[in-house]
Amino acid sequence: MAEKIIGIDLGTTNSVVAVIVGDEPVVIANQEGSRLTPSVVSWTKEKEVLVGEPAKRRAILDPENTVYESKRFIGRKYEEVLDEAKRVSYKVVPDDKGDASFEIPNLGRKVRPEEVGAQVLKKLKEAAEAYLGEKITKAVITVPAYFNERQRQATKDAGKIAGLEVLRILNEPTAAALAYGLDKKSDVRILVYDFGGGTFDVSILEVGEGVIEAKVPGGDPHLGGANIDERIMEWLIEEFKKETGVDLRKDRTALQRLKEASEQAKKELSFKLETEINLPFITIDPSTNQPLHLQKKLTRARLEEMIKDLIDRTMDIVKKALEEAKLRPQDIDDVVLVGGSTRIPLVQQRIREFFGKEPHKGVNPDEVVAVGAAIQAGVLSGEVKEILLVDVTPLSLGVETYGGVMTVLIPRNTPIPYRKCETFTTASDYQTEVEIHVLQGERPMAKDNKSLGKFYLTGIPPAPRGVPKIEVCFDIDADGILHVTAKDLGTGKEQSIRVQASSGLTQEEIEKMVKDAQLHEEEDRKKKELVEAKNQLDQYIYNLEKTLKENKEKLPTDMVSEIERTIEEARRVFESSQDVQEVRRTIERVLETAGKIGSYIYQGQTTQKGEGGDVIEGKPM
Ligand code: AMP
Repeated sequence: MAEKIIGIDLGTTNSVVAVIVGDEPVVIANQEGSRLTPSVVSWTKEKEVLVGEPAKRRAILDPENTVYESKRFIGRKYEEVLDEAKRVSYKVVPDDKGDASFEIPNLGRKVRPEEVGAQVLKKLKEAAEAYLGEKITKAVITVPAYFNERQRQATKDAGKIAGLEVLRILNEPTAAALAYGLDKKSDVRILVYDFGGGTFDVSILEVGEGVIEAKVPGGDPHLGGANIDERIMEWLIEEFKKETGVDLRKDRTALQRLKEASEQAKKELSFKLETEINLPFITIDPSTNQPLHLQKKLTRARLEEMIKDLIDRTMDIVKKALEEAKLRPQDIDDVVLVGGSTRIPLVQQRIREFFGKEPHKGVNPDEVVAVGAAIQAGVLSGEVKEILLVDVTPLSLGVETYGGVMTVLIPRNTPIPYRKCETFTTASDYQTEVEIHVLQGERPMAKDNKSLGKFYLTGIPPAPRGVPKIEVCFDIDADGILHVTAKDLGTGKEQSIRVQASSGLTQEEIEKMVKDAQLHEEEDRKKKELVEAKNQLDQYIYNLEKTLKENKEKLPTDMVSEIERTIEEARRVFESSQDVQEVRRTIERVLETAGKIGSYIYQGQTTQKGEGGDVIEGKPM
């Protein structure tokens, strides 16, 4: 029998593990008997590590040693998460590489987000092993569609630390669509509405011929079930204060109990119209030293009133996503609900009203992503057949070429995995080194895009510019991780990097980059035209200089000085002109002059273009 591969949804708030048994995906309960495992890790004074529910119960009691929502920090630089760091109760610090990590007083050391993820993964792996009665070493893990390469790589590393080989990193919305078998339909558009514990995400997927393509997602990273719990908590605290004059905010134990009770009440109100929150001995009255009890009724109608604005916000984001995709609500064939907060009846009602159809909710919304991951795992282990799965690149990828232009190798929305090679050449004579500057974004000029990394290919044998052939290959693997290779075809010498984005891209940044590109389209086009014309001019001047040098003796002196004047003038235009027409006129003049030399000497033609192709920005050694 083939080795089982598990599917894991490593969530911001909760994580879930599932596996294919027989032909069906099964969600596996953890050691405490729960199908959801809070993604929380806590370290006690005795350095004991608690994971899941036991850790979550310590979140308020021992805030400095309890890490929750560590997914917000995985694969990110400290500098990028300053705002996020302010929102959590534990200490976020940079490690020696400047990556975000956590300072845990009880451990007396820093803990990386990967280690926290690994603790959760390990617990799920062990639960699966206990359930299946066999060792598990392989997994598919899901991540948000907007996760960049570093975040994906860090998630893989978390798997490795937990003793899991991560065979595939799968996008969460894609997993959700898989769970409903929507990949088997053809030409449908799916909207995934993912309302979890701490985040809200919207993705639009297009399915055609068994291929799922995820479009650029939208969302709000700080909108989730926790906001709803807070509203209930605030209400309880205020009511309690009105009745007793005591402020529960000062009592950590009381706060922890209030938080748990608020979440519980919220969940109950998804199925009942009224619930009672009952917290005996919640605190001691400081004036009488007598214990106080909290008892409060909450109705669904009251809760809906408290949270209406939060649900409105999710619907505004849905509308925005549709607008950006140039779609109307009726263009969406299937709506898929993901995340525990979609159990709230008001959420379902708003979606039903907006799309005029029932959303898919047969699979538990907090398990649907893990179920999709298990199906993908089943495909990899050979237990599930006939699914072709494709994700796409959210932004274009390319390299910087001569004149500061971004040359795109992989356009945005290209299905992955994908490989593309292109041949480039040098910009100067006898240049022995080229710089490969890897970029991500939609703007034509390199500086307006995001730099993902740079490396050098050295040891190119000295040759006139345009002669060396340097093949640059972009290889995005199925996990969305980019590998870039540059090879001198002359010598076979090769350099490569796995691109570590210098900083993470959030989904807002992706949206912003796409929008910026649209906004600056005209101005960018002009800039690019100018740079391209100048590159051409530079090439022609170079050719003219070369021809002149080789034939100087054969030409009359007045012709030589006329050519030199033309070259000088052309150089000036190349250096300083901002006028594309002037550059083009100069090109014509240079070509004309070259033509004159040709017809004077042998009526031949000069080579006009480097053989290698586009010129890569280079640095002569
Ligand atoms: P997830 O991130 O998908 O695990 O979602 C977790 C969030 O869903 C938490 O905020 C839960 O409190 C919330 N949740 C779970 N069940 C329900 C329910 N029945 N009604 C409302 N919210 C729920």
